[in-house]
Amino acid sequence: MTHPPVLEKIINNFRKLPGIGPKSAEKIALFLIDSNPKFIKEFYESIKDIIGNIKKCKICFSITTTDTCNICSSNLRNKNTICVVETYKDLIMIENIGEYDGLYHILEGRLSPIKNINPENLRIKELMERIKNPENNIKEVIIATSPNMEGDATGFYIAQEIKKNNINVKITRLAKGLPSGADLEFADRLTLINSLKNREEMKI
Ligand SMILES: [Zn+2]
Repeated sequence: MTHPPVLEKIINNFRKLPGIGPKSAEKIALFLIDSNPKFIKEFYESIKDIIGNIKKCKICFSITTTDTCNICSSNLRNKNTICVVETYKDLIMIENIGEYDGLYHILEGRLSPIKNINPENLRIKELMERIKNPENNIKEVIIATSPNMEGDATGFYIAQEIKKNNINVKITRLAKGLPSGADLEFADRLTLINSLKNREEMKI
């Protein structure tokens, strides 16, 4: 049987979410219909915040409700180091291990010739500007892109750009030992701690 159009519409919207197939979409929609109106209202309000209240940090592109995120605006962070990650999820992973006190830069993806993702589609230009600006006094750039071919290529490209621009900064890469070929988000905590501690200088 087909659902009433109003329900069909809800199901179709949930199907657009990552990892949600038709069965799960239907399950979530039916769950919400039977839910307490207070919960629905909270849920709705939190989604609505995406339009008005949630934005990207203008420095590192992390998620924030103000112009600059709480990491970029904190006085407790080491402002001489930038850890370059592909996504916000990767930032959270590194933040959660509690061993890193520097700044971040989110690329919003990684280079991928197959998906037609080129340097200009990532936040590389903004990263270069941050590193180049003498006021920022950046001394080390940690490349923490994923340990796979695309992540390595992205890291290598950034390192080359830094060298090309004659910027005097140490460039390091998370040490080997991370599950090779996978995304950073699949690394376990201890592996990530070791990989950060034993980061190696990239020789370009
Ligand atoms: Zn920020």
